[in-house]
Formats: sequence, C-alpha cells, structure tokens
Amino acid sequence: MNVAPLIQSHLEKAVQHIADGHQLLAALDIPKQILHKKLLISQKPYEAYRVQHNDWLGPFKGGLRFHPTVDLNEFQTLAYLMTLKCALLGLPFGGAKGGIAVDPKELSEKELEELSRTFVREFFDNLGQDRDIPAPDVNTNPQIMAWMLDEYEKMLGSHAPATFTGKPVALGGSLGREQATGVGGAIVLREYAGKIGKKPQDLTVAVQGFGNVGHYFAQTVSNMGFRIMALSDSKGAIATSQTEGFDIEQILSCKKGKGYLAGCYCVGGVCDIRFGRKIANEELLELPVDIVVPAALENVIHENNANNIKAPIILEMANGPITKEADEMLIKKGVTIIPDILANAGGVTVSYFEWVQGRMGYYWEEQEVLEKLEKKMKEAFGQVWNISHEKNIPLRTASYLLALQRLHMALQLKR
Ligand code: NAD
Repeated sequence: MNVAPLIQSHLEKAVQHIADGHQLLAALDIPKQILHKKLLISQKPYEAYRVQHNDWLGPFKGGLRFHPTVDLNEFQTLAYLMTLKCALLGLPFGGAKGGIAVDPKELSEKELEELSRTFVREFFDNLGQDRDIPAPDVNTNPQIMAWMLDEYEKMLGSHAPATFTGKPVALGGSLGREQATGVGGAIVLREYAGKIGKKPQDLTVAVQGFGNVGHYFAQTVSNMGFRIMALSDSKGAIATSQTEGFDIEQILSCKKGKGYLAGCYCVGGVCDIRFGRKIANEELLELPVDIVVPAALENVIHENNANNIKAPIILEMANGPITKEADEMLIKKGVTIIPDILANAGGVTVSYFEWVQGRMGYYWEEQEVLEKLEKKMKEAFGQVWNISHEKNIPLRTASYLLALQRLHMALQLKR
C-alpha cells in the first residue's frame, strides 16, 4: 500500500516491539476496500474516493476532504492514520478517509450541495452507522454533513443520524465537538506537565495557527495557567515579552475585530495587546519557549529548521507537522515530541460520542461530553506514557505501539 514514508518509518519503529509484528503490518498494509467513482455535476466530472482501510475494531471512520489536489495515495495514508488513531484512543472504530478532487470555492452553493448529495448516492451501499461513518475534514463542514445525512436518510427511508458525525447540533451533532480537538490537546499537555513535575504556570507556550484547533487549544491551556508567549495565523505572528504571556480573551476579541492576529500589536505607541510585537511566522517555531505547538499545517518543522528549535517540548496539534528527517534530528537533540495521533485525537473522540448519542437517541449536555473527553484523553496519555517509560521509547513510538497492540489483539481473536 502507498503509505507516506513518514508513517511507514514510525510503524516500523513501533512494530519491532511486537512478536510477529511484521505479519501484522503486512495484514494492515492492504486496505479492505478502495472505492473510486466519477461524479457528474453540471456535466463536469469529479473524481471521488473512499478508502476503507481497516475495520477489525469497528465500522470505518474518517473524514471527507474536498480539495483539488487530493489523490488515492493521500487518502490511503490518511485512512491508515485513522485506523491507528481510533485504536490508540480505544474507540470501537476502524479507519477510512475520502473525498472529492474539487475546489469548492469554484462551485455555487447549489452545485456544492448537489456534489455532496451525489457523493452519497454513489457511495450509499458502502456507508452506514455500522459500516462507514464519514465526518468533515478539509473544506467540508457541518452543512455538507447535513446535506449528506438528508440524502442518505431519503434513500434509506428512515432516520440514521449516527451515519455522519460533525453534523449541526440541530440535526443530532454533539455539543462540545467544535472545541474538542483543541481541548483534547490541552488535556494531554496538562497531563504531560504533571508527569515531568511542572505546574502549567512554570511553562511557556508558542502556538502556530489560530483556527479551530489553535484557538480552542490556546484558550484552554491559558485557562489552565500555561503562559502563551506567541501566536500566529496565515497573515503573521505576534509575541509578547510580558512574563504572564498573552491575555487570550483580549487576543480573541482583537482578532475578531481586525480579522488577523498581526493587527493585534503596538503601532506608534498605541498598543492593542500590551508589550506585543510582530514577528515572522517562521520565527515563532524557533522562540526560546518551553513548548512549541504547530496547529496549522503539515511539514512546518523540517531538516532546515529542526536544529533551530529551542523548545524542549513539541506538541503536534496539526497532522504531520514534523518531517521524517526533522523527527530524527529532534529526537537526537533530546526534544520530547507529543505526537499528532495522540494530541489531536480529541476531535474523533467526540465524534465517537456523537455516534453513540445518535444511536441511542439521547443527547448529553456539553459538560458531560467534555468530562467524557477528559477521561478518554487522560487514559490514552497515561497508557502511552507508561509504555514509553517501560520500553524507553519516544512517545510517538509508544503511541503507534499501543495502537498496533490493540489491532494485533483483534486480529488474533478473529483468526
Ligand atoms: P483551520 O483552517 O480552522 O485553521 C488553520 C489555521 O492555521 C488558521 O488560523 C490559519 O490562518 C493558520 N495558518 C495557515 N497557514 C499558516 C502559516 N503559514 N503560519 C501560521 N498559521 C497559518 O484548521 P484547523 O481545523 O484548526 O486544523 C489545523 C490542523 O489541525 C490541520 O493540520 C488539521 O488537519 C489538524 N486537525 C484538525 C482537527 C479538527 O477537529 N479541526 C482534528 C485533528 C487534526
């Protein structure tokens, strides 16, 4: 299977700790099903894909991405990662990923709706709450899930809200889903700080990206007491020299007003955010803080900047923010990397809660969802930490190992 070399290399490191691990990898190498269809909208063809990687632990689960450059290789890697992430968190799901090669900005709203509904009509037989449960991903959102669910239920002839997650709350979406990924990462960081004997107040943080993940993450860690020294979005970065770090609520309202973070600093003696200054986006990753948090894009830490990273801890909130070469350089330097499959798993965890609520028809209050999220994230972090210490391996290898151990157990029981 065409899995990105980065994932392959992490898998190989982890599997060395499993007896007949290579047989397990060989079994996981082949996706259960690859679906590839052409959808016709306004007489124009669009390539649509769904890679159903593995379902040993439960129905396939994973997002749908609408992007012009998507292809089968990318979906195969992402579907494999979903298999690992769900196994790591102990969720009763396998892994899938899919989507359409399209730039949604070039479509009218009507065409986007038609494309979403056509996807469901074409893939209907392979979807279902016990079969394959899509969710939003890059360029897809709750509205698209609402159209897809509506089309699915019309074809089925009955309600089936658990077939899609990331739906609007009014159609059975879960409270707490919006902030789940950021909050989940914050819980992991707090647990890690506890293990190394630090209070949040002792630790400074720089966060790259201030979208869904970055902003809820920054807000939650700041409320926990961590000190946010720098933030960025696509238009620029800001840093502060104040010991207590940024006041996140002030930043949030500033960004809301100005539209971008770089506008939130001192201009000509008039300061929106006290002691703030504008810095280059790349500089943020290299600041002398305790924790750097890439929460925007892939491959932002690479062989050309890995040696400039001064933070002893990196928390990966984005997917794949560190290249294979940089990962090796950082581990050699003694940097602790808290990996993406653990740190950003809060989103799929609350998607699981959405699926549970949809199936039972009873919906929890936000507080209950967030308490359950906290329990799951703490449990997964604790297990990864223990494996990492027992075997003296990095947290990433320990995360992959725990996921692979669960898949191995399922395979052995099914044989
Ligand atoms: P988003 O589109 O809401 O936000 C992305 C943010 O990154 C924006 O603030 C944007 O301005 C910023 N950005 C873009 N280019 C940048 C640059 N060069 N420098 C600094 N900032 C830049 O996306 P999101 O949902 O927050 O996702 C962020 C990452 O987290 C992605 O890698 C995504 O795959 C991953 N992730 C998201 C979820 C989720 O639930 N949303 C779950 C798991 C993983």
